[in-house]
Amino acid sequence: MTDMVTAIWSEFLTIAKEEAGSRVVETWFKAVSFTEWDMSTHTVYLQAPNHFVREWIKSNYYQLLETHLKRLLHVDHIKIILTESGISESIPPQPITPTSPVIVPAKQITPKQSDETILPARSLGKSKTPSGRVYTFDSFVVGPNNSLAYAAAQAVAERPGGMYNPLFIYGGSGLGKTHLLHSIGHAVKTRDKKSVTLYQTADRFVTEFISAIRFDKIHAFQQKYKSVDVLLIDDIQFISNKEQTQEAFFHIFNTLYDAQKQIIFSSDTYPQNLQGLAERLRYRLAWGLVVDMHVPTLETRIAILKKKADLHGEPLSDEVAYFIASCPVSNIRELEGALIRVIAFASLTNQSISLEIAQKVLLRVHDTRKGPIGFERVVKCLSKYYPYSLDDLQSQNRGKELVMARQIAMFLMKKVTDKSLRDIGHYLGGRDHSTVMYALDKVQQQASSNESFFDQLKRIEDDIMQCP
Ligand code: ADP
Ligand code: MG
Repeated sequence: MTDMVTAIWSEFLTIAKEEAGSRVVETWFKAVSFTEWDMSTHTVYLQAPNHFVREWIKSNYYQLLETHLKRLLHVDHIKIILTESGISESIPPQPITPTSPVIVPAKQITPKQSDETILPARSLGKSKTPSGRVYTFDSFVVGPNNSLAYAAAQAVAERPGGMYNPLFIYGGSGLGKTHLLHSIGHAVKTRDKKSVTLYQTADRFVTEFISAIRFDKIHAFQQKYKSVDVLLIDDIQFISNKEQTQEAFFHIFNTLYDAQKQIIFSSDTYPQNLQGLAERLRYRLAWGLVVDMHVPTLETRIAILKKKADLHGEPLSDEVAYFIASCPVSNIRELEGALIRVIAFASLTNQSISLEIAQKVLLRVHDTRKGPIGFERVVKCLSKYYPYSLDDLQSQNRGKELVMARQIAMFLMKKVTDKSLRDIGHYLGGRDHSTVMYALDKVQQQASSNESFFDQLKRIEDDIMQCP
């Protein structure tokens, strides 16, 4: 059960990262623990490490917490109690609807680490997924979409510094690149305990380099990277436009390559396509073997789901696996998110997983979050109630009525599409995500204090859902 609270929290972190950016998640949310979910009172208990973090989250991210925790926990109202080393205070009390008295045991859940923070530039240790599973070859399902990358990864793990050096794996987000990189690291380590493997995201490599310059530690920095046997650099695209870092990396690359040490990269695109990268570096990235990863077929998706579910100790029947695998997701991370929501819902409501439950949980995904509803449909339906066109909504005009209509548009877009606050702001005249956040707040407040406004909002929403 507590496992499920952990799963919900890591799901939340993933969403928060998309919406508010990874810096916000790293700085604020990772410091917070989700300690308990009391289903009878719809209360979420969170714990902040200190006053400052608590206050900041309270005033800046309450809406984000409320919106997504409500959705992830499948409830209409939620009460959030944010405590801080012994002190507790609830943030905006919401109406409570009592339901079945299921209480998730309180237990301290430590903040989960993201891929980037799994291995803070040290030799490769245990690298875990957000749900606590280890990324290894064993837990990786091979299908036509990734078989080449998988075979290459295995070959490299068996003979580091051999034929395929460097190995360059590219593909879209959530397709298993990080999983494969960690698998290589583990396999190398398992075979030869003495070999030094180092995993780092390019993002963190850049940060580390900058701080090395600042604190006059360049030599130690270079030494650290030049003394490894296997270097794994995840998401190399993040080194783009960082000329000095590229220069430093170039030397590390040459040293390792000349010493026949293995280098492995992942990226969201193939080397020639990497913008903002010095030609000589781009050229070197493609020196060895370049392999790509694709979106898996239905069969592979089913196999992945079954494997993941087994790892969670919740085996899936064929029909449930088929149903989840057929959800319109664009990558495996989202597929896993869907699975976790199903497992969590079944577990939190004390039921075993069935097709009915999966449908109940995921139809929301079809209908509202991931469904085919786009911004256009929202604007179209809204125009039946308010006399404004898309141009008006996108304009900089700040007439009172128009501002309200624009805020309602933002609210509904957030509610019925799967777009981020940033996307919504961008679509509605290049506004930033805090403007959208503010609008959501405003509309919500008005809806809670004005019944006819609430009804009107509900009508428009129903209209959007029914609209072809
Ligand atoms: P990327 O680095 O390409 O964005 P990740 O490696 O983080 O993607 O993968 C996202 C999630 O999908 C991880 O939980 C990973 O374990 C899972 N995953 C991806 N591909 C597979 C696969 N072939 N078999 C099992 N799990 C997979
Ligand atoms: Mg990754």
